[in-house]
Amino acid sequence: MEDCLFCKISKGEIPSTKVYEDDDFFAFKDIAPVAPVHVLVIPKKHVQSIAALTEADAAVAGKMLFAIQKVASLLGLAEDGYRVIFNTGEKAGQTVRHLHAHILGGKEMAWPGV
Ligand code: AMP
Ligand code: ZN
Repeated sequence: MEDCLFCKISKGEIPSTKVYEDDDFFAFKDIAPVAPVHVLVIPKKHVQSIAALTEADAAVAGKMLFAIQKVASLLGLAEDGYRVIFNTGEKAGQTVRHLHAHILGGKEMAWPGV
């Protein structure tokens, strides 16, 4: 999608610190980390958010959990654990309207964290 920051990042049109890429997904370090490890996983296909998913996105939505699992393992988080956050919509703090999972790790995290 034109004028979408994360579409541009996944195409390499805007630089990022890439940590993983396959045919369907791209993962890169968050520019303003809130934990020692903070990586974003995005589908290459433009989908606005979880709220905008349709049946046509079923394959990508399903594969995304496995992409997150793979990236977390690459980051060395599999054993210690990690938190995955999908901010969905304005009130939840979503600022970039391209579906993305935050992977947070490398520290003890409190719960609830809202
Ligand atoms: P959200 O608030 O859930 O929409 O998350 C968007 C995230 O994208 C924030 O954590 C930002 O720090 C991050 N972000 C924004 N621009 C960039 C960028 N150019 N490269 C990496 N991360 C970014
Ligand atoms: Zn996009």
